[in-house]
Amino acid sequence: MSLMQKTVRTDVQATQAYVVAPAQGMVKLDAMENPQGMPAALQDALAEALKTVALNRYPEPKAAALEAALRAHSDIPKAAQVLFGNGSDELIDLIIRACCMPGDVVMSPVPTFVMYAVYSQWSHAQFVGVDLNPDFTLNMPALLKAMSTHQPKVVFLAYPNNPTGVALREAEIVQVVKAAPGLVVVDEAYEAFADASFMSRVLEFPNVLVLRTFSKLGLAGVRLGYAVASSAWAEQIDKVRPPYNVNVLTRTAVEFALTHFEAFEAQAAQLKANRETLREALQSLRNPQLVVEVFDSCANFLLFRLPNAWEVFEGLKKKGILIKYVGKAHPLLADCLRVTVSTDHENQQFLDALKQTLAELA
Ligand code: PMP
Repeated sequence: MSLMQKTVRTDVQATQAYVVAPAQGMVKLDAMENPQGMPAALQDALAEALKTVALNRYPEPKAAALEAALRAHSDIPKAAQVLFGNGSDELIDLIIRACCMPGDVVMSPVPTFVMYAVYSQWSHAQFVGVDLNPDFTLNMPALLKAMSTHQPKVVFLAYPNNPTGVALREAEIVQVVKAAPGLVVVDEAYEAFADASFMSRVLEFPNVLVLRTFSKLGLAGVRLGYAVASSAWAEQIDKVRPPYNVNVLTRTAVEFALTHFEAFEAQAAQLKANRETLREALQSLRNPQLVVEVFDSCANFLLFRLPNAWEVFEGLKKKGILIKYVGKAHPLLADCLRVTVSTDHENQQFLDALKQTLAELA
């Protein structure tokens, strides 16, 4: 056994690093990014704003200017506190670290966003997934029973959920919040594409935190997420936050984006409309020989099921189209693929390649 093998945690050694599929030169529809990029007219102004950033100084620890800009453009209740993270990924980690001792339980309906389980493991917390119904709606009796049995410190509800696209009903969230013995995190990563949010109710209950991100809006590379909660929760989670976790370039870029927020909102609205067009196009592939099931989505992606999903995924990849094969992630996702909604042009490239691949496999 080498010195490394004796030293590094055995569960770390047994784990594969998070794989990001190589996408050079591909039509990239695997990661729910906004394909449109920053409107050209804004790019020069952003460059101008970044010029004066003091790169030689550590960031101001509270990110007060960023918070003021965010509050001016969002629905965060006045009395709630905001915490920023290097993506909402980091905040998921911080929440679990603040709440869980080794052996404590983190719970979520599954399939869902994989990082809830990953960060649980690194905190030595036990992740308990509770299966959704086969149509990806919440199995409320099963979740209530599991909460009562396992007493989770933290319950994550992705609203809407990834990779299913399904949004819980607000009344379901309330029911979970009231029954939960600990914190309920309502993860609104896809809020811009849904017609629903729990933000206005975050202070109505003693145990809710709402998570959001700028990633799906067109700033995935900037890495900024935020958590909104009462000061009681925010003050505790803030203690495990690295003091300078959000860098000065990120802050300036997001403050800039917030002053031009209509442009980003317009892009999100366009993608929402494109989602419905793409959904109908996918559905119309169905014929007596080919069963294609397309699930309704409240997010900027669509989940669909068809025979030979892995071969279809590979066929698309050979044609330069990268989507996500999720068929092995959970039994309920057997033969499922997830595609990010993109521009008309890229959606058409995807559909053309899909039709060609299906013809090759027939
Ligand atoms: N929550 C959900 C439900 C997600 O799907 C994602 C990204 N795929 C995230 C959080 C993390 O987003 P980010 O770290 O880019 O803010």
